[in-house]
Amino acid sequence: MSIKENYLKIREEVPGHVKIVLAAKTRTKNEVEEAVSSGAGIIGENYVQEAEKMYQALGDKSKSVKWHMIGGLQKNKINKALRIFDIVETVDSLKLADALNKRAKRAEKIVRVFIEINIGSEITKIGVKPEYDAVKKLAVNISKFWNLKLEGLMTMGPRTGNPEKIRPYFKKTKDIFDRLKNANIPNTPNTDLKYLSMGMSNSYKVAIQEGSNMIRLGTVIFGSRNSDLN
Ligand SMILES: *Cc1c(COP(=O)(O)O)cnc(C)c1O
Repeated sequence: MSIKENYLKIREEVPGHVKIVLAAKTRTKNEVEEAVSSGAGIIGENYVQEAEKMYQALGDKSKSVKWHMIGGLQKNKINKALRIFDIVETVDSLKLADALNKRAKRAEKIVRVFIEINIGSEITKIGVKPEYDAVKKLAVNISKFWNLKLEGLMTMGPRTGNPEKIRPYFKKTKDIFDRLKNANIPNTPNTDLKYLSMGMSNSYKVAIQEGSNMIRLGTVIFGSRNSDLN
């Protein structure tokens, strides 16, 4: 099946309120362009440098889509990142939030961010530890930064062949999300929790059942990758 057919099939299959982020790592401009031409509206990139290349390669099309940072953001790449990304899904520390806020202020921008949770407590993954109190603490701190707007939570979840094994982790993330939404975090103009970004190619169905409204898909749309970066 073509990229277009893959995208359209999944778009039809998942509920309309669920947003699809194309995980574009290792993909060519033509591949990403095909998905965008088929209606995909959000491109997720893991590295700032690759995002810049793709942004340039796509020309005018770049401005017709939204860009999400879905990989770890290094501080020295923030200024460049701010020129491309609409949402940074991977904020996992006060330090990073503070650095983003400072640079956003200088650039006179409000940056939309998600907190990434390391829901499986995996040492190889970034993210806040999977405890409500830790996530809430960061959320409250972000709410005090006037140039950041907290709009969601993101998690990867452990990689396993069996998506049912990830279900409890998705449940836990949804639980943190719901509690946080009800926490009445101060400075609410800066906090509007509405997105729960979880689910990838092998797990998006389970993730949606557990309350995800944003899935990040690579393989099921583009086919398998030669080198897996995760
Ligand atoms: C690669 C990647 C995905 C998508 O992975 P697939 O299994 O190819 O769908 C989703 N989220 C992040 C953060 C990724 O790096």
